[in-house]
Amino acid sequence: EVEGGLADLKTISSPIGNELSCKSWETEALMRLLMNSLDPRVAENNQELIVYGGTGKAARNKEMLEVIIKELKQLEPDWTLLIQSGKPVASFRTFPFFPRVISSSSMLVPKWATWKEFSCLEEKGLTMYGQATAASWAYIGVQGVLQATFETMNEVAKRYFNGTLKGRMLLTSGLGGMGSAQPLSVTMNGGVAIVVEINEKKIQRGLLNNYCDIMVHTVEESINLAKEAASHGRPMAIALLGNAADVYNDFLKHGVTPDVVTDQTAAHDLLNGYIPSGVTLDQADFLRKKKTEKYMELASKTIINHVQAMNTFQERGAVVFDYGNNIRGQALKAGYQDAFAFPGFISEYLRPLYCEGRGPCRWIALSGDPGDIYKIDEVILSKFNRDERICRWIRYVQDKIYFYGLPARTCWLDYKEREEIGEIINHMVASGELAAPVAITRDHSEGSTMAAPNRETEWMMDGSDAVADWPILNGMLNTCAGATMVSIQHGGGVGIGHSIHSGMTAVADGSMEASEKLKRLLKIDPGLNIIRHADAGYPIAKRMIEKYEINKPL
Ligand code: NAD
Repeated sequence: EVEGGLADLKTISSPIGNELSCKSWETEALMRLLMNSLDPRVAENNQELIVYGGTGKAARNKEMLEVIIKELKQLEPDWTLLIQSGKPVASFRTFPFFPRVISSSSMLVPKWATWKEFSCLEEKGLTMYGQATAASWAYIGVQGVLQATFETMNEVAKRYFNGTLKGRMLLTSGLGGMGSAQPLSVTMNGGVAIVVEINEKKIQRGLLNNYCDIMVHTVEESINLAKEAASHGRPMAIALLGNAADVYNDFLKHGVTPDVVTDQTAAHDLLNGYIPSGVTLDQADFLRKKKTEKYMELASKTIINHVQAMNTFQERGAVVFDYGNNIRGQALKAGYQDAFAFPGFISEYLRPLYCEGRGPCRWIALSGDPGDIYKIDEVILSKFNRDERICRWIRYVQDKIYFYGLPARTCWLDYKEREEIGEIINHMVASGELAAPVAITRDHSEGSTMAAPNRETEWMMDGSDAVADWPILNGMLNTCAGATMVSIQHGGGVGIGHSIHSGMTAVADGSMEASEKLKRLLKIDPGLNIIRHADAGYPIAKRMIEKYEINKPL
């Protein structure tokens, strides 16, 4: 036990208010974000330090978490703490303008980058699975992925259903940290969602949080309810307790083809994130530990059935897509050759936004006061009123999402808007309009911040899907430009061997230095996003280079 350590993880939550317990707001912000991501109201399984996405963790273990917090408390404003896969390994004197924390998580030499090798190293206590925003301490719960999910559903509606999901039925699975955004996004777009989830507790949470309207136990009930709601054009979110692969096949047997089919079980990690058919949660816990090979065999069989069913839905006319969990990659690995018959959601629906330099920005009120977020919302609604997409989102999310943990807002902003928001927030902190400084961060899922051939960089125009230089350049550049924390990670979203990505966090503490940092910093993510896509030949991105006069040699 570390002296003054955390007595019990059950009660961990971020300090709030504007009193510092660290030596600067930069370190205070990082400590608060770390503690917030492990708050039991925010994290999926905080007893094991699991934040979301299968086994995505914020720190290696409890002792290391305590040491990180202790180190952050005493870190001088010109020192940098190094985190190696959730373990604090050193701190060095650097410069005030450079990050207070740099972190590398789950990185493996490419030839060894397999789940098998990773699990061995993890078991020996040598590494940690950091997912994306878990290890970069930027997780804010379901809102973090909600806008991307909302934009995806909106795009599906525009492309196939005259702009609305009203009267349409969507079948999907998984009510975990990310997956819970699905029912909300479908009902937001007017549709009916059936979400299959094997863990009743997750469904109960979905009902409590109003993400889901009702729980049912049989496929027939779900079909009847969905048809009834859809025929009246009524939005509805139905949670169905069951195994996704079984349910999808039952739908096929009933001859029911939903309008849209996808999946968000944590299929990227078959062992820890995906439950095989015919296995209960307790049995899964036992098998996973005691009979790992048997578990993998069952999970592989199930995932083939699962993806086969999705292919059949597509053949029968449904709009089908992979929702970023590498389900197709896992089915291919298990031996199903036709696993890639349907597209991934990014190449299909979100890439045009990346080309415009738009990306998932988020800010977190370190005061703990929701009023700070609402005040920023108001400024956005008036200053960005030219952007209908943003205004619609802010109004919607204000109505639908309540805060848990530190109040936060996520919003997809473009090149100009991101720079503006940094200045606006810093100014609001400086003038005392906000109760305390604000952390500005983002998801890892962007064109230049994530290289993932089965997701963010799938089917790139120039074939550069597996080129992973961009997230590394992004991380290094953010380090040079004043970020408070920069992380380089491997395996987020789609699993070990399948992605390299980077995260960054900055702090608007109202100072001149913060203003200088934010001016430089907030151009980097959207700017590199545009450059990466222009480099790959996307015409929209090329136009953005001209529009924003971005310096791109060649
Ligand atoms: P999570 O681990 O919190 O939740 C997964 C859920 O799936 C759990 O509730 C689990 O009980 C359920 N589940 C597992 N196997 C099942 C089965 N066979 N049938 C029914 N339910 C089953 O994960 P999460 O944070 O919700 O992420 C889900 C997936 O999405 C992960 O693979 C993650 O890497 C990926 N992801 C997607 C995006 C995106 O933008 N689309 C972003 C980040 C992560």
